[in-house]
Amino acid sequence: MKPRVLLSPLQLAWLAELGADTHWLNARESSGPPPVGNGAPPGVSPGTGAAPQTGPALPRALQARPPVSRSPVPDRAPAAASGEMATLAAADLDALSQAVQVCTRCPLHAQRSRAVPGAGVRSHPLYFIVGEQPGIEDDASGMPFQGDPGTLLQAMMAAARLPEVDSAYLTNVVKCRAVGGQVPDAGEIAACLPYLHQEIAQVRPRWILALGKTAAQAILGSTRELDALRGGPHTWSGPDGHTVPVWVTHHPASLLVRSAGKPEAWRDMVAFGQAVRAAQA
Ligand code: URA
Ligand code: SF4
Repeated sequence: MKPRVLLSPLQLAWLAELGADTHWLNARESSGPPPVGNGAPPGVSPGTGAAPQTGPALPRALQARPPVSRSPVPDRAPAAASGEMATLAAADLDALSQAVQVCTRCPLHAQRSRAVPGAGVRSHPLYFIVGEQPGIEDDASGMPFQGDPGTLLQAMMAAARLPEVDSAYLTNVVKCRAVGGQVPDAGEIAACLPYLHQEIAQVRPRWILALGKTAAQAILGSTRELDALRGGPHTWSGPDGHTVPVWVTHHPASLLVRSAGKPEAWRDMVAFGQAVRAAQA
């Protein structure tokens, strides 16, 4: 018996529209090893795995059900050299969250209900997921990816057989939502970007997944269009020479309103899943 991610009918409908083969999802039992290698793979093993975390709970969108034990991931930093490191990181992230919550560095502070710092697995997550700005639900709750885009993202990651989908830290390029959700301008992005770089440097993720043009350009320091940046691996480089591989795809919020990018987004996610699994093999 192999636990599987349980997806709602709505999530399954979205995936079917994306062109993903969903028939195997939600199966509760497996009678042998899952078939592999056809781009619409069957075995989702969500893992939960996260080492004990001291920060805010993982956003609902990426909480895995049911929990199972973590499989070993040899190329990740040991969670625990960690007692001390994790505490240090958490303390720094707490300070960063507090700074974000009272930040007035750009005009977006006047438009937010609540600032939305990153949340999720705060020490060596497998994925560091970057969106553009908080959604309406996020602006109200103070937590990222609480609405439909986060739900679709989770479904896509599970369907693409990404390991340990709940080992994720989620954040945005700008931490405050503009009224109406307008794309942040260059000044707002520049004002907020130091927070994002600090988050990456402190969280130390294994992979970065940038969702949409704003996130891709901000993470990569590029002015190229999304289509030129989609896929990967790109590289994020920190000031201390620390690097993290970056993958880029469409933002799930854009897929919910514009169907044109759906097959591409699905292909990106499948390729990303293959890269992650190959790195873990
Ligand atoms: N919620 C977020 O936190 N970020 C997005 O980019 C969209 C929705
Ligand atoms: Fe500060 Fe970023 Fe919010 Fe602007 S968007 S006020 S820089 S936290």
